[in-house]
Amino acid sequence: MMYNHAPENYTCPFCLLIAGVETNHVQSVQSDVVYHDDSVTAFVGSGQWKNNHGNTIIVPNEHFENIYDLPLSYAQDIHRVAKMLALTMKAVYACEGVSTRQHNEPAGSQDVWHYHLHVTPRYIDDNYYATQRERMSISERAKHAEKIRKHLAIIRLQD
Ligand SMILES: [Zn+2]
Repeated sequence: MMYNHAPENYTCPFCLLIAGVETNHVQSVQSDVVYHDDSVTAFVGSGQWKNNHGNTIIVPNEHFENIYDLPLSYAQDIHRVAKMLALTMKAVYACEGVSTRQHNEPAGSQDVWHYHLHVTPRYIDDNYYATQRERMSISERAKHAEKIRKHLAIIRLQD
């Protein structure tokens, strides 16, 4: 916990989302959720990069602030879902690549104090690192979530 930055009495938006709570405090809503099991949850992010729509976020269901705190036992579950999402993005968006991104501490651009891994469809010359994230409407996100959810349901991973 020595590298944590969450303020005292932090209300964690991802914990609320995982618990199924929707309040004005929470930017993500239940219709964003594309995957949920005993260990992890994945959802379409409320913020999206304009050339990379479909950016999805994976979180452990239990609250850990960052990679320093995350028990290793979660790593495989998180990465299994990352692989499922990467394959789903190839199928759903016909993207030319996929990036995963995970931020820790303010200097690492972390903005929500619950460990999360982004999985993002990529394209040649998409200018991803120079593009600002923009809020996407709930209804637009729901359309992405439906497509992603539908494909995730038919994925069977090999070892
Ligand atoms: Zn949390």
